[in-house]
Amino acid sequence: MQKIIVDAGHGPHTAGKRTPDGTLREFMFNEAVAIRVKKLLTAEGLTVIFSHDNSRDVALSERISLANKLKVDAFISIHANAYGTDWNTANGIETYTCLQPSKASVIMATHVQQALQMRTYRKDRGIKKGNFAVLRETTMPAILIECGFMTNTEEAKLLKSTDYQQQCAQAIAFGVLCCLT
Ligand SMILES: [Zn+2]
Repeated sequence: MQKIIVDAGHGPHTAGKRTPDGTLREFMFNEAVAIRVKKLLTAEGLTVIFSHDNSRDVALSERISLANKLKVDAFISIHANAYGTDWNTANGIETYTCLQPSKASVIMATHVQQALQMRTYRKDRGIKKGNFAVLRETTMPAILIECGFMTNTEEAKLLKSTDYQQQCAQAIAFGVLCCLT
């Protein structure tokens, strides 16, 4: 059976990482989507493990060592983006691989990014490469998804809505399933 880690980025107490008006913490969005992705993928027969914890801020090193120890088939990190700390017009969705990704990571990023764009109709910012520890140091296909900007008034409203959270979760689950089955 395939097993994957779904990682809600950051933690409930992480400094910064919120909308300019403070009404949404990034973790609250990340976790809500992670719960929905888990539900969808579990229904498809996958084993889904969380590397985050809603009662504490889990260190990146702990998330990475869990993934590598369990030898999961994929590591999916869910985030919301920010550009600066004030409201601005930056918007859209982007998906990251590490700087020197495996082919499997690129394929997974491509499927997820495409599914998100088709499901949400947000601006497609494309597949990007980033030097994120959870992507660099994990030993399986790994992607990090930025589901919209907390610093954009329109997207901040979407990030708070359960409809949008579900759309993102459906797209992520669909994209991952395309690659694993
Ligand atoms: Zn984040």
